[in-house]
Amino acid sequence: MDLYEYQARDMFEKHGVPVLPGIVATTPAEARAAAEKLGGGVVVVKAQVKTGGRGKAGGVKLAKSPEEAERHAEAILGMDIKGHTVHRVMIAAGAAIAEEFYFSVLLDRAERRYLAMCSVEGGMEIEQLAVERPDALARVAVDPLVGIDAAKAQEIVAAANFPEELREQVADVIQKLWGVYKNEDATLVEVNPLVRTEDGAIVALDGKVTLDENAAFRHEDHAALEDKSAADPLEAKAKHMNLNYVKLDGSVGIIGNGAGLVMSTLDVVAYAGERFGGQKPANFLDIGGGASAEVMANGLDVILHDPQVKSVFVNVFGGITSCIAVADGIVGALKALGDEASKPLVVRLDGNAVEEGRAILAAANHPLVTIEETMDGAAAKAAELAAAAQ
Ligand code: GDP
Ligand code: MN
Repeated sequence: MDLYEYQARDMFEKHGVPVLPGIVATTPAEARAAAEKLGGGVVVVKAQVKTGGRGKAGGVKLAKSPEEAERHAEAILGMDIKGHTVHRVMIAAGAAIAEEFYFSVLLDRAERRYLAMCSVEGGMEIEQLAVERPDALARVAVDPLVGIDAAKAQEIVAAANFPEELREQVADVIQKLWGVYKNEDATLVEVNPLVRTEDGAIVALDGKVTLDENAAFRHEDHAALEDKSAADPLEAKAKHMNLNYVKLDGSVGIIGNGAGLVMSTLDVVAYAGERFGGQKPANFLDIGGGASAEVMANGLDVILHDPQVKSVFVNVFGGITSCIAVADGIVGALKALGDEASKPLVVRLDGNAVEEGRAILAAANHPLVTIEETMDGAAAKAAELAAAAQ
């Protein structure tokens, strides 16, 4: 889960990272009041969207008075930044910036450790710096068992070529940022820019934090950080039903058991779909081991409510769960959904008790259901039905 800048700011503050005061506003009037609350002096009005490059897009504006903050908020609220609509701004106390630096720490999956990146040339897009002047971006491996201790922080500031007189101060902030990373179970903490102000303070002026959702059970407070209004409604519904569902862009709904089988089903459907005007899978949905009528009904319920779905491919391999239970599940689900089940279903069953399972489906003789014996055959049929419905 990615956090908004204002949430990252609050989290930084909680862990002792130096930040400037900031207040969230959702209307121009609130923005003005926030600027007044911050003392009526210079503030920065910052669009709160989960994408970078806000500055370049006109989403970060300096205001010299509360009136100006109100006007900037009016311009920025509702703005579209790379497909993200701005619903909130943060009114941040203005900083007199002397220098801009860059720091991040992230999970390096390939190397099975963490990676710290640091540069004395912050502010600009770091991807650009990494390409144009890779030497200016220090990359320091971090041992997960040790983390960023005082010695590692010194190594990082030295690798980034910080001037001698700033090293102690920056290294201290880096250790506090590591505290955020470790104690909040983040997979990314990025500060761009980390600044030196004219009066000599090191301050995190912009923050990006990604939290590891697999660690959510350790952090009761993280659930409140989720932006429910921005979540895909189908994904939210599936999550509520404890389904492993990911919305995709195509027209063929997919239900399968086991992540590997579902992944290969997506491939087979995309491949078969090429012959039918480029039909593609509409989602990933793994209903796991026990394909009960209830889980099958929940899965179908989510998929059938996706307006992009034109046909559904149910691909189940009976293992511990026999195909009898799966077939009963499908029949039960269709009964439970009634008129809401309105799109053609192609079912391929295999494995444990496959003959009995197919016999149950054949006996139910549901007008929307087609039984196919092979995965390729079923993928082609589902793609054909999706194409025909468009
Ligand atoms: P981003 O473009 O989305 O990364 O947004 P940032 O929060 O990094 O802001 C972009 C730039 O605006 C920074 O690199 C700074 O140069 C400038 N900026 C942000 N806050 C302040 C501030 O308080 N004072 C001044 N003078 N400039 C600021
Ligand atoms: Mn930035």
